[in-house]
Amino acid sequence: MNREIICISCPMGCHLQVSGDKDTLEVTGNKCRRGIIYAREEISSPRRVVTATVAVTGAEGISRIPVKTTAALPKAHIASLLNHLYTLRLSSPVPMGEVILSDYEKTGISVVTTRSV
Ligand code: SF4
Repeated sequence: MNREIICISCPMGCHLQVSGDKDTLEVTGNKCRRGIIYAREEISSPRRVVTATVAVTGAEGISRIPVKTTAALPKAHIASLLNHLYTLRLSSPVPMGEVILSDYEKTGISVVTTRSV
């Protein structure tokens, strides 16, 4: 398997050439060791921090509140999480950092608000 992926661990955005599988992985194009770690995770268990908005009622002039996962979520869970978040309705007041979903799909990852409304 030969693939090019972009390391998103820092703003440099190195283009990594990845070959082999998870046991024989070879990575070039990385400017630092974090690129190798990123490539290994991306091949074996890709994850992303998820940001979204959730509907909120009772706040004048504001209809949605921004939220994010507390850590990078396995990509396989992202679509179902977003679908779930878009069905939620919160009621103002909602403080920043409020946990609105806890231990999503037993991943140990929660979803919290990133501002107060
Ligand atoms: S390989 Fe290192 S320098 Fe390049 S984007 Fe990743 S973290 Fe940044």
